[in-house]
Amino acid sequence: MNDDRKIRDGVTDFGFDEVPVAEKAARVRDVFDSVARNYDRMNDLMSLGVHRIWKDALMDWLLPRPSQRLLDVAGGTGDIARRWRRRGGGPVTVCDINAEMIGVGRDRLAQAGGDAGIDWVVGDAEALPLADRSVERVTIAFGLRNVTRIDAALAEMRRVLKPGGRFLCLEFSRPTQPWLDPVYDAYSFRVLPWLGRVVAKDEDAYRYLAESIRRFPDQQELCERMRRAGFEKVAWRNLSAGIAAIHSGWRL
Ligand code: SAM
Repeated sequence: MNDDRKIRDGVTDFGFDEVPVAEKAARVRDVFDSVARNYDRMNDLMSLGVHRIWKDALMDWLLPRPSQRLLDVAGGTGDIARRWRRRGGGPVTVCDINAEMIGVGRDRLAQAGGDAGIDWVVGDAEALPLADRSVERVTIAFGLRNVTRIDAALAEMRRVLKPGGRFLCLEFSRPTQPWLDPVYDAYSFRVLPWLGRVVAKDEDAYRYLAESIRRFPDQQELCERMRRAGFEKVAWRNLSAGIAAIHSGWRL
């Protein structure tokens, strides 16, 4: 059943489980509450550092400018915000539904000397706490997969963009090389939960990660949903043979 129909029936995916729509956000919050302290370390470990290359590719496409304000949705511990600022971007707002993730990011930034150009706000991607047409750029990295109503979040991210503004989404996607499938499956369903158990002491959270990736729309479907949300000039680039992809859309 597709997402829309499921949601109309009052259920949605939480990994491979179906849960009542009203429950998903709380379950996602529990996952990130549990992993917040280990989140950055686990990212490096799980991806063998490759998430850094993907995030750099996001910045290469984004081309930060001092005159641009960025909203980073589902910004977690602020990894995208810090990169944006290092590359010369203007002020950035990190918005995340999870106060724990934001707390870890804020503490880490303070320990590194702080940055007055980064502000942090707790908020839901489906109801962003920002005015219409208020930012030049919006990003979401590894966040859209966790949102209950993807189409509502896409519409919100377009709403807050100024005309001429750009949206970029970095997310796990569909590998394009069939020979990769068995290796990728073994890694996702055996290695990731094991790492979750041994390092972060939460096997279920990392099983959810693997399952939620499989449930997320593929490259083409996400493109279509972005167009339906009103984005124009929609395009994508695969990263690491489609394990991840960056989607780009403009508000014209
Ligand atoms: N963007 C960061 C990065 O790339 O390191 C964090 C990604 S982390 C995998 C996913 C984040 O999405 C978590 O911090 C989680 O709290 C946040 N999130 C989940 N559902 C959300 C929602 N509905 N609105 C805003 N943030 C959400």
